[in-house]
Amino acid sequence: MSPIRIGLVGVGKIARDQHLPVIAANADYELAAVASRHGRVEGVPNFADLAALLANATDVDAISLCTPPQARHALARQALEAGKHVMLEKPPGATLTEVYDLIDLAREKGLALLATWHSRYAPAVEPAKAWLAGKKLLRVHISWKEDVRYWHPGQEWIWAPGGLGVFDPGINALSIITHMLPNALIVDKATLEVPANRQAPIAATLEMHDHQGLPVRAEFDWRQTGPQTWDIIIETDQGTLTLSRGGAVMSINGVPQIEQKEQEYANLYALFARLVAERRVDADLAPLRIVADAYMTGRWVRVEDFVE
Ligand code: NAP
Repeated sequence: MSPIRIGLVGVGKIARDQHLPVIAANADYELAAVASRHGRVEGVPNFADLAALLANATDVDAISLCTPPQARHALARQALEAGKHVMLEKPPGATLTEVYDLIDLAREKGLALLATWHSRYAPAVEPAKAWLAGKKLLRVHISWKEDVRYWHPGQEWIWAPGGLGVFDPGINALSIITHMLPNALIVDKATLEVPANRQAPIAATLEMHDHQGLPVRAEFDWRQTGPQTWDIIIETDQGTLTLSRGGAVMSINGVPQIEQKEQEYANLYALFARLVAERRVDADLAPLRIVADAYMTGRWVRVEDFVE
């Protein structure tokens, strides 16, 4: 089979850190072109925007969108309408309906669409899910606390409407638990702390439950300096499982289990190649639904200005 000729849109942090090296290392893909207003990639045709890429690099099979969520729906629609398979960075859209619209269009055209959730491919997630099977879950606690100045310097889009604020990293935790837990999570209470000079939360607390009464609490905070925390603690009738470092490490009753190599984006591109071959859609909206529910039910608290 000839490699998938892929075009990448939005040469920013995640494109450089993950997409470009992973595409280069995977024989199923050939980077055919990129579209970015400022970013450039040597050795392939560069275009200012997706429209120019589609008009010139007509033999591209698929488009990987590495732009912020606000700009994503129009680009994805444009690519699908041009007959290209589409991979979406997380979160898959700025609203739920945007993504449903893309799912309908991809199915109508028989094209692959992947809404990626990279954290679901963190090395300890599947072992943790397997360990939980058959145990009674008693309580879940998520603590996702990082320093926004370190991780998102100068990213204005993340604070703008549709940028999700602290839910941009927080949705990674939600993508893990919605993959591991058996039932839908209902948001009972949410508090969203929004800096007076910004449009998106810098911190959020969510209290949720499932229909069997499992309590799930999530604390997201972007004001953490010093050690960073990306932990999910699940108490069961047979001990406590801790997923730490964003799903990289699993501990049972405080004892770390075997650590495996991180391969989140390699796994995403392997999945996308399968979806392209089968012309299938994989777009789970459960993590984004929880964020939307938090926005709908949440109590909004204005906090001090955020100064970069
Ligand atoms: P970024 O560094 O700001 O890069 C995004 C790129 O998209 C920009 O460099 C820009 O390139 C292009 N772009 C197109 N329209 C834009 C707009 N309206 N506003 C700003 N940029 C626009 O962002 P990122 O960190 O790579 O994140 C992109 C997406 O990947 C987000 O959805 C994020 O949640 C996800 N993600 C990020 C990380 C991470 O570690 N940073 C990890 C996993 C997932 P041009 O100016 O050249 O067009």
